Amino acid sequence: MDFSLSEEQELLRKTVREFAEAEIGPHAREWDEKQEFPREVFTKLGALGLMGVVWPAEYGGSGMSTLDYAIVMEELARVDAGVALSVAAHNSLSSGHIFLAGSEEQKKKYLTPLARGEKVGCWGLTENSAGSDAGGTKTTAVRDGGHWVLNGSKTFITNGRVADTAVVMAVTDRAKGNKGISAFILERGMKGFRSGKKEDKLGVRSSDTSELIFEDCRVPAENLLGQEGFGFVDTLKILDRGRIGIAAFSIGIAQASLEASMTYAQGRRQFGHPIADFQAIQFKIADMATKVRAARLLAWHAASLRDAGKEHKLESSMAKLFASEAAVEIALDAVQIHGGYGYLKEYPVERYLRDSKLGTIGEGTSEVQRLVIARELLHLKGMVR
Ligand SMILES: Cc1cc2nc3c(=O)[nH]c(=O)nc-3n(C[C@H](O)[C@H](O)[C@H](O)COP(=O)(O)OP(=O)(O)OC[C@H]3O[C@@H](n4cnc5c(N)ncnc54)[C@H](O)[C@@H]3O)c2cc1C
Repeated sequence: MDFSLSEEQELLRKTVREFAEAEIGPHAREWDEKQEFPREVFTKLGALGLMGVVWPAEYGGSGMSTLDYAIVMEELARVDAGVALSVAAHNSLSSGHIFLAGSEEQKKKYLTPLARGEKVGCWGLTENSAGSDAGGTKTTAVRDGGHWVLNGSKTFITNGRVADTAVVMAVTDRAKGNKGISAFILERGMKGFRSGKKEDKLGVRSSDTSELIFEDCRVPAENLLGQEGFGFVDTLKILDRGRIGIAAFSIGIAQASLEASMTYAQGRRQFGHPIADFQAIQFKIADMATKVRAARLLAWHAASLRDAGKEHKLESSMAKLFASEAAVEIALDAVQIHGGYGYLKEYPVERYLRDSKLGTIGEGTSEVQRLVIARELLHLKGMVR
C-alpha cells in the first residue's frame, strides 16, 4: 500500500491551498458574520477547474479523481468550510446527479456550464418532514401533457438562493414508495419556482442555505432526470461520493484546528513556559494529530476504492462518520488549548468548532451513517439515505 500523493496531487494541494489562503482566508471571518460570500468566488473557483473537479473535459470538467476531489475539499475547508460546503453541494450533489443520471443532451446543456463555474447548482432532497427519512418526500410531480407540474417545498438547501440550476426530488407515484420518487432539473426563472427563507445558522455561515418552493411549477418533460421512479435510488449512489467529500470537509476543519493549536501552544506562555511544554497540552495535540491522520486515511481509502471502480458504500460512511465526529472533538480541543481566547471571534477556532458540527448532520447524520454501516456489515435490507 502506498499512501503518498503523486507529484500532480501535491501540486493540486499546493495550488488550492495558495488560492484559498490568498483569496478566501482574508475574508472568512467577514463572510461568516455576513452569512454570504461573493458570487465571484464561484467564478474564480471555476477558472481553477474546481467547480467540476471530477467531470470529464468533454463536459467542461477537470477530469480529476475522487481522491483529487478529497484533496480540494480538505484544502477549501481548511480555510473556509462554508465555501467548501457550497462547492461540495455544487460538485458532488447537483452536478453529480446530472452526470450519473442525465442524458447526453442534459449533460451538455446543464452539466457543462456547472462544471465550468458559469452556473451554480443546488440539490434538493430534504423537506420539513422528510430529513433522514427522505423516502417520506411530499413534493409531488404530476404529468400534464409535455410537462411535469411540481408542488411542494425543500428545506436546508445549500446554494438555494444563489443557484441557477436545481436538481429536485419529487414523488411521481406515491404507491411505489421510495421507487416512486423522481428527479427533475429546474432552472432559475421557471414560473412557479422560487427560493424561500434563508436560514440563520450556527456554522458554515458563508454558505447559503435556504428553502426552495414550487407552486404549480411547470417543468418540461425533457427535464426529468434519469428514469422515472429512480430519483431516490440514484440519490443513494450520489451520497456515496458525497460522503467522501464531507469526510474531507471535516478533515480540512480538523487540520486547521490542529495547526492553529500548535502555533498558539508554542506562543502562549504561562508559568514561565510556552503551554506546549505542558504534557496535558502535548497529549491533546498528539491525539488531535492522530485523529486527523486516521480520518484522512479512511477518506483516501474510500476515494481510492471509488477511483478503482470498487464498491465503497461502507468505507464512505465509515470515513464520514469518523472524520466528522473527530473534527468536532478536535475543534473542541482547539478551543480548550486557546483558553479564553478560543472563545473570542478574534481567533478562528470558535468558527472551526461551529463549522465542524455540520459534518455530523449533512448528507446523512452520524446515526444514519451507523445504520448504513451496520446494514452493510450485517447484510440487512432497507433503504436509508
Ligand atoms: C447547513 C446544512 C446544509 C444542508 N444542505 C442540504 C442540501 O444541499 N440538500 C439537501 O437535500 N439537504 C441538505 N441538508 C439537510 C440534511 O441532509 C438533513 O438536515 C439531514 O439529513 C438530517 O435531516 P433532519 O435535519 O430532518 O433531521 P431528522 O431526520 O429529523 O433527525 C433528527 C435526529 O434524529 C436522528 N434519527 C433520525 N432517524 C433515525 C433513525 N432511524 N435511527 C436513529 N436516529 C435517527 C437523526 O440522526 C438526528 O439526530 C442540509 C442541512 C444543513 C444543516
